[in-house]
Amino acid sequence: MYLPPVNLLFEDSRPGRRCFRTTGADRTAATAGLPSSALRDTPPALPELGELDLLRHFTRLSQKNFGISVNFYPLGSCTMKYNPVVHEAIAAREEWSGLHPLQDEDTAQGALALMHDLARDLGELTGLPAVTLHPAAGAHGELTALMVLRAWLDQRGEHQRRKIMVPDSAHGTNPASCTLSGFSVVTVKSDDRGLCDLEDLAKHLGDDTAGLMITNPNTLGLFEDNIVEICKMVHDAGGKVYMDGANFNAIMGVARPGDFGIDMMHLNLHKTMSTPHGGGGPGSGPVCVTEELRTFLPAPQIVEEEGLYRLQTPEHSIGRMRAFHGNFLVLVRAYCYVRRLGAKGARRVAENAVLNANYLRVLVDKYWRVPYNRVCMHEFVARPTKAMRDAGIHTLDIAKRLIDCGYHPPTVYFPLVVHEAIMAEPTETESKETLDAFAETMIMIAEEAAAGDEKLHEAPVTMPVTRVDEARAVRDPQLCYRCGD
Ligand SMILES: *Cc1c(COP(=O)(O)O)cnc(C)c1O
Repeated sequence: MYLPPVNLLFEDSRPGRRCFRTTGADRTAATAGLPSSALRDTPPALPELGELDLLRHFTRLSQKNFGISVNFYPLGSCTMKYNPVVHEAIAAREEWSGLHPLQDEDTAQGALALMHDLARDLGELTGLPAVTLHPAAGAHGELTALMVLRAWLDQRGEHQRRKIMVPDSAHGTNPASCTLSGFSVVTVKSDDRGLCDLEDLAKHLGDDTAGLMITNPNTLGLFEDNIVEICKMVHDAGGKVYMDGANFNAIMGVARPGDFGIDMMHLNLHKTMSTPHGGGGPGSGPVCVTEELRTFLPAPQIVEEEGLYRLQTPEHSIGRMRAFHGNFLVLVRAYCYVRRLGAKGARRVAENAVLNANYLRVLVDKYWRVPYNRVCMHEFVARPTKAMRDAGIHTLDIAKRLIDCGYHPPTVYFPLVVHEAIMAEPTETESKETLDAFAETMIMIAEEAAAGDEKLHEAPVTMPVTRVDEARAVRDPQLCYRCGD
């Protein structure tokens, strides 16, 4: 196996090596007008390399980046799908990227129109017509919506409603957002079908209920088929239902949350709508709510009057959630995506996301244990069989072995309701051939695992960094390169 050389920018430095040489005249020109106190006496401590070595350094660095543009990335719940490159080109255009957020409204009408129309389209897709595009990520959207809920409750004088029900399969951000916005979390159990347990929910509902936060499809990749009844129960108890819509690509264009009783939800534009993510780049988590909650949304909102777009503060607004208008260039990509797909295309996205997940599930289910083994939505959860566990192989070993096979591992050890979970989301943008090849690899690893193959404990062996001490990596992360360490 070929291993690319390790990058040692500082260690490979040789005094006096240069990519190019400046002349005394260059330096005079570059420093003209600077006060002498601003000039260095000693050169900066930078590595000294020839141009070819420098080029190789950065090219190799770029090759260590694993992303959807390199290989299959079936990370459950995260929707690592292909984001059309043409949208990157459009978002990078000077007309968008060169705008200043403090520009007069009448000089930024195109940008305001784009946001106005995107909000309208997201409202149409979700069946929740009042939309804010401000939140910078999914979790920020959760926080925004919960603050809206709180403002709504406070306006009605219902200060005692401070409990939010959260199913035990929820994404970790859900309980965190509840706590941050001053609510307390009540965990609702899953039933033996992997769905929200109605009896358990009924037990917790009462005069102190602010609402329910539910992910649908849930994090087991299952559609909560009692959702209409669940919403009715919460509404009858006087609360609102929030849907975590990070998994929207499974139902987009097929079902509208507003139609099945949801009051508020967020979307992850950086999962569903064409912005690459991972590694902490800019995201966007718009919140869509019912007409009733519109006046509580963050300020400003964009309104259209006689063909002109203006900014307006909603009557009971919770205020600003972010500077200016959110991550605008993410909104540009989402606008392109929604407009290019249209209603039919949006539906095809969802159908193919579900088809791909089920295809993969059926290919591997004889070799893996799939605890809720029925038609799933956009993802499914598997776990090692008893034979694999008896051979001493854990989910972590399997994930690391997949790295050696060229795949980003699926999400592991989540959701918590499945012991040793592996959660795979193939997304709609992968071809049948890619899914077949991945399934073959998963089956090969299942066979190695059942045989207790030692390779699995050692993997990954083909990477510049091999098996790390996971606990130490979390407790003692070293994120900066220090020369000489
Ligand atoms: C990704 C995700 C979130 C959080 O979104 P961020 O943009 O990472 O804050 C919340 N819920 C679910 C189900 C998710 O998959």
